[in-house]
Amino acid sequence: MVRIIAGGPAIDELPPLSYTDHYIKIIFGDVTRTYTIRWLDHEAREMALDFVIHGDEGLAGPWARDAKAGAEISFKGPGGAWAPRGDAQVHLLVGDDSALPAIAAALEALPSHARAEVFLEVPDAASRQELPVTDNTIVHWVERDAHGLGYGEALTYAVQTADFPDGDLEAFVHGNADMIKPLRHYLFNERGVPREHVSISGYWRTGMNEDGWQSSKGEFVAAMEAEQDS
Ligand SMILES: Cc1cc2nc3c(=O)[nH]c(=O)nc-3n(C[C@H](O)[C@H](O)[C@H](O)COP(=O)(O)OP(=O)(O)OC[C@H]3O[C@@H](n4cnc5c(N)ncnc54)[C@H](O)[C@@H]3O)c2cc1C
Repeated sequence: MVRIIAGGPAIDELPPLSYTDHYIKIIFGDVTRTYTIRWLDHEAREMALDFVIHGDEGLAGPWARDAKAGAEISFKGPGGAWAPRGDAQVHLLVGDDSALPAIAAALEALPSHARAEVFLEVPDAASRQELPVTDNTIVHWVERDAHGLGYGEALTYAVQTADFPDGDLEAFVHGNADMIKPLRHYLFNERGVPREHVSISGYWRTGMNEDGWQSSKGEFVAAMEAEQDS
């Protein structure tokens, strides 16, 4: 991943962050790409954005890989919808590298007594990151390349086979769309986690750019709900 620190007077126009999954839409010509605000510092007039570098395809990934100090971005936002409930018994935070910034921000917001089970998929051991953890945080790193599996497959398996308690659980599950279907089924249909305690969605989809994914997401979700909720 590459961290870009964006600064300047535009930061003054951002409200204080009330969610941990706050994101902006970076404008590239006539399309946008969505990135989580990892942190925002109004005093320093800076915000941090962490970009997954995923090869030569796309706009945002290659831009971040090649960006030099002084490069300019335009953006819209912020949006956002989720922050951890301080009183949940267990916080289950699951994501691939694209959701790592949101999960790290959620960990920072948790009270120190909160129990968190964190499952993070990254390509390899070198891609692990220091996280803001306490003695009550258990982090399970899943290394995709070591298993030779597709995006999200090893992560799905790790969550499905993990031993975390039932009870008052809340879950934040984001990343590659292909893992969303089995994990949604697992949480709702097998574990019986109440829907209002779960934030789950695909941040991106293999083989689709963001425009393709966002325009087909409604259909994907409708088909998944029809299959799992009937
Ligand atoms: C609310 C929200 C928050 C997000 N926050 C972040 C964030 O903080 N950091 C972050 O890196 N991403 C984040 N994402 C995901 C990011 O928006 C997408 O990965 C986006 O498609 C990247 O744009 P791009 O121009 O690099 O690639 P695109 O032009 O969209 O896609 C080009 C190709 O690259 C593939 N691709 C896209 N993303 C990935 C990836 N992560 N790994 C491997 N292949 C990929 C696509 O499938 C496609 O084949 C977030 C998404 C959402 C909805």
